[in-house]
Amino acid sequence: MTDNDIPRLVPDGELTSYPPVERWDDWEEYDAGAWPQRVKNTYRLVPTTCFNCESACGLLAYIDKESGTIRRFEGNPEHPGSRGRNCAKGPATINQVDDPERILYPLKRVGERGSGEWERVSWEDALIDIGSRMGTAIREGRNDEIMYHVGRPGEDGFMDRTLKAWDVDGHNSHTNICSSGARVGYAMWSGYDRPSADFANARFILLLSAHLETGHYFNPHAQRIMEAKQAGAKIATVDPRLSNTASMSDYWLSCWPGTEPAMLLAIARLLLEWDAVDHEFMERWVNWKDSMTHRYPGRPPTYREFIEVLKEEYTQYTPEWATEECGLQEGQIEIVARAVADAGHAFSSHTWRSVGSGNLHGWQGARTLQFLHVLTGSVGTKGGLSPSGWVKFKPQHWNMPPPHSRWNEMLWPKEYPLAHHEMSILLPHFLKEGRGKLDVYFTRVYNPIWTNPDGFTWLEVLKDEDKVGLHVALTPTWSETAWFADYVLPMGVAAERHDTHSYETHAAKWLGFRQPVLRVAAERDGRKIERTYETNPGEVWEETEFWIDLSWKIDPDGSLGIRKWFESPNDPSRPISVDEYYGWMFDNSVPGLPEKAAERGLTPLEYMRRFGAVEIERDVYQVNEHPVEGAEVGEHGIATKGGVPVGISIDGEVVAGFKSPSRKLEWYSQTMDEWGWRDEAIPGYQRTHVYWRGMDLDGTERILVPIFRLPTLIHTRSGNAKYLYEISHGHPLWINANDADELGLVTADMVRIETETGHFVMRAWPTEGIRPGVVAASHHLGRWRLDDEKGNERWSSALVNVEQLDDGQWRLRQLKGIEPFTSDDPDSERIWWRDPGVNQNLAFPVHPDPISGMHAWHQRVRIVKAQPGDRYGDVVVDTTKSHEIYKRWLEMTKAAPGPGGLRRPLWLDRPVKPTPDTYRMT
Ligand code: SF4
Repeated sequence: MTDNDIPRLVPDGELTSYPPVERWDDWEEYDAGAWPQRVKNTYRLVPTTCFNCESACGLLAYIDKESGTIRRFEGNPEHPGSRGRNCAKGPATINQVDDPERILYPLKRVGERGSGEWERVSWEDALIDIGSRMGTAIREGRNDEIMYHVGRPGEDGFMDRTLKAWDVDGHNSHTNICSSGARVGYAMWSGYDRPSADFANARFILLLSAHLETGHYFNPHAQRIMEAKQAGAKIATVDPRLSNTASMSDYWLSCWPGTEPAMLLAIARLLLEWDAVDHEFMERWVNWKDSMTHRYPGRPPTYREFIEVLKEEYTQYTPEWATEECGLQEGQIEIVARAVADAGHAFSSHTWRSVGSGNLHGWQGARTLQFLHVLTGSVGTKGGLSPSGWVKFKPQHWNMPPPHSRWNEMLWPKEYPLAHHEMSILLPHFLKEGRGKLDVYFTRVYNPIWTNPDGFTWLEVLKDEDKVGLHVALTPTWSETAWFADYVLPMGVAAERHDTHSYETHAAKWLGFRQPVLRVAAERDGRKIERTYETNPGEVWEETEFWIDLSWKIDPDGSLGIRKWFESPNDPSRPISVDEYYGWMFDNSVPGLPEKAAERGLTPLEYMRRFGAVEIERDVYQVNEHPVEGAEVGEHGIATKGGVPVGISIDGEVVAGFKSPSRKLEWYSQTMDEWGWRDEAIPGYQRTHVYWRGMDLDGTERILVPIFRLPTLIHTRSGNAKYLYEISHGHPLWINANDADELGLVTADMVRIETETGHFVMRAWPTEGIRPGVVAASHHLGRWRLDDEKGNERWSSALVNVEQLDDGQWRLRQLKGIEPFTSDDPDSERIWWRDPGVNQNLAFPVHPDPISGMHAWHQRVRIVKAQPGDRYGDVVVDTTKSHEIYKRWLEMTKAAPGPGGLRRPLWLDRPVKPTPDTYRMT
């Protein structure tokens, strides 16, 4: 052994996966690039959390002690959700840190909005300008003209706290282009809007999603699904496309898009017919008494009669009928139903995007899927499905302001009283109609011009300073939308900011901590750091510190009552620091953390900085049966504490139950009935807006599925990750080989895809991997920029021209694709990929489901060969038609007020809930 030898951690012939945590401050390894020389590098390993998707997997930053730079990211083995594993996007965080084109300084627009002329400004000037404008708006009672619109939140609670402190009902999200459909389906059963599947212990897994490759909580779920498969579990995937997930499954069911609830109800019918029903669970936990009393008043209100009602309600859903309706192969429904029945309590499932996000009435997908769990009693069981809220841990935030006292109809319009999230996709139409205007509009890691449907309508309103007074883009990367901002403020990526988060990855509760790793390393080296930007590249800030400082600028003398929420608890004359903020949280609100930290001689904050995450509880099952002490039992057995429902009395015992109004699982939703949706009040099936019958499938009409993800990209946040774009670029139109023959198309033919509002041009890819009648294109590609050297990163975007044609239509035309360029990174001259893809979302009008508010993404399209003059990547759209279609879908709604003069049921969750009195319409 020489001085240059690194001792092995394990005996010769054995391998170990991760550096042990006790060596993280001083980790040595050979430089792989220097091989065959043995060159030793010494690292400090600091954990943080990936920011590239919602899974929040743990990362470990390898910080070179000599250069003080981050050399790479690997998985954090101490993270309970991801357990050291990542998808390709986790390690690609290093590209986002090192991107030679990243935004390093605050920029202010100097030319016309959208002209691409910027000047560098100081953070202080930007904060004063934005803060004073907001202060004036709040003083004048124009709080509703302030809006925060978030794409990827990546944090839990700090922004809620900030908006409450401002008394602004201005939280807007991306959720109604993402998951608000499925959320309504789940919430109407239990009050919880997402499931938490115990995949690892399941015997049968039913996925309405490409879940192994791209689903919600993708990597943490995928690794547990594969564990179950290795232990013998079977998997069925429902998807018109043969995704990677479908190809790894035991069964692939290629339904017509939007017919999935018919299939699920046929399975329910078979379970009832076979009596593969957990009656003990159903009788105890389903609201059968209320169902009988309110929906079938003439019939005996008994459980036995309820089961008869179920059989009658679903008698039409024979497997034969559903097979035909869904376009499945004979026998498939019976096979899946048998597998569900055999798995019993160990039946797990998930739906994400898919039916809930593609279709009018798509929320019934989650509602009917949950029905199978209710019938089999696989709710809260080992290997079954629990509500998300049982395992998602919400820490308390220091000095939490009370709920705000306003209701913003630009976000929560009366037409959509049951929408699960804000009607974000309709914002530009509301602005066009003059329902209101925005004085200060923050987009935060959000890119509606590219990501949302109807992007040209967004472009129109964002250019209009009478509609949007000041647009501030908080973003780590350029985006199509940031180009139309007044300020572009650079925010940190995963390794450059503080956040906490906890997600429903498995049957355990955990809390993760994202942190600026160079700041942590500097502090371990003894440097005193006041603010995260001191160690970030350029003048990149983190948002927690930004909101604290901005709040001080809104209310510099404290007279608005805002500043007090952001003052240091130790010295009110200065802003609270992140150490004080998160230190309080970890000291006071995370069960078990102080004890775990003390065992290691650390403070709770030091523990989180050292490990990056903490497990709070494992094996979380049957929380509905947890006893509740000291509650008062009132009408219908509902137990309350201080007037707040906390449980239900069953057989003389008070237990937690669920979060629905009845604290039971609601097969019949009295809420939906009372708000005008009687037919929809029980799990059912209504035909989608892309229903296959009646379409011109013998001609050129097809159903377009535009929402599938690629596992290697993440919306518009990965545009600066060269590793990822080298793997994934271009996205052809999947079309069944028979359809391609009928339409006279061969591979790489240019096709024009005609939507209700315009068309786009891409290339065809005939394949057997998609059902005939359906075409599909991933939504992940088609990035564009308006200037050759400014704006979106050149690893991923096309240079385009956007213009209005003589007939008033907008046209986006690619001038050139991706090309090598010169930068500080020599890899930029080695770019070999050329195809940026096509921004298809621009050509989709809004389709808000009248109940959930979810944008129904699927499109009825006509596929024709490209026309003379068409060019690859062209997108042509008529925004006048978009507005007409918005109005047409608006006619399907049933507006508030509902019972009691309410805007919305009080029990239904919504982000940043205001005071109850705001729910009453005046
Ligand atoms: S699944 Fe991939 S992108 Fe998502 S958090 Fe985990 S490593 Fe990051």
